[in-house]
Amino acid sequence: MRVLITGAAGFLGSHLCDRFIAEGHTVVGMDNLITGNMDNLTQLAGHERFHFIKHDVSNYIYVPGDLDAVLHFASPASPNDYLEHPIPTLKVGSLGTHNTLGLAKAKRAKYLLASTSEVYGDPEVNPQPETYWGNVNPIGPRGVYDEAKRFAEAMTLAYQRYHGVEARIVRIFNTYGPRMRLNDGRVVPNFIYQALKGEPLTVYMDGSQTRSFQFYSDLVEGIYRLLLSDEKLPVNIGNPSEMTILDFAHAVVEIARSESEIKFVTPTDERITDDPKVRRPDISKARRVLGWEPKVDLADGLAKTVDYFREKID
Ligand code: UDP
Repeated sequence: MRVLITGAAGFLGSHLCDRFIAEGHTVVGMDNLITGNMDNLTQLAGHERFHFIKHDVSNYIYVPGDLDAVLHFASPASPNDYLEHPIPTLKVGSLGTHNTLGLAKAKRAKYLLASTSEVYGDPEVNPQPETYWGNVNPIGPRGVYDEAKRFAEAMTLAYQRYHGVEARIVRIFNTYGPRMRLNDGRVVPNFIYQALKGEPLTVYMDGSQTRSFQFYSDLVEGIYRLLLSDEKLPVNIGNPSEMTILDFAHAVVEIARSESEIKFVTPTDERITDDPKVRRPDISKARRVLGWEPKVDLADGLAKTVDYFREKID
């Protein structure tokens, strides 16, 4: 296949580029580099089946030649990033999705949208199955991301139903691993950085809010299977092992063999507004339609991620 991956220089986009190259496909990577970084693609520089185009997909996209698949992964993805870039976040989820769908239609390519567990907002149902409609505040600070992704899902389904584009939608739950940005503000890089520096781990509020963390390689496998599947509606891909943020802080301290203390802080800015109190994927659908489930446990995944950050800090 010849595949376009938007957000190619990001954490997930770059791992997807690696996977498609490893499977023998040709990859066109696209990124405007507002939160992506070319360091994530150094391993592919000069590869004969990899090409990079610096472009903002919120503007009209021109790609010469055939495409068999378009994977739309471009977007700021951490709460800090979308608070800092609210309008580009809204644009890439809406206009960027429209442009990439238009491109997929013109090239008769398969399409895969990176959606998110944020479409469930601050969920009143736990775990969240794909049939849950969510509890999103459209005008809160997270609304710029959540509503853009909800619009993106609606647009993708419309292109599927009215234009016959073969589309797939993955709802991605919290994912971590090498190539996350050290300063993206999310809990995984924050805690690992703090643990490695011997600084206190900043647990927001009382740390009783929960998340379920999956290692990036499990996600990449799920996405690859989804693209090749016949499933037309959204599929959750995440690790169902849910834990409190306080327990997660203890796990990071232990795995990084750190002396850091844990400090409870309540940010006074918008970072914690509408922070979901619980989040856990119901993955019965992924098990059923993709034969997929996560394989990497937290201790192994965290150890690899700690090694990566240790090297970056050095
Ligand atoms: N969090 C925290 N300390 C930090 C950063 C985040 O306690 O230094 C909490 C945050 O309030 C949220 C959870 O960790 O409840 C996950 O936050 P993250 O920004 O990683 O992503 P989210 O899952 O909210 O999109």
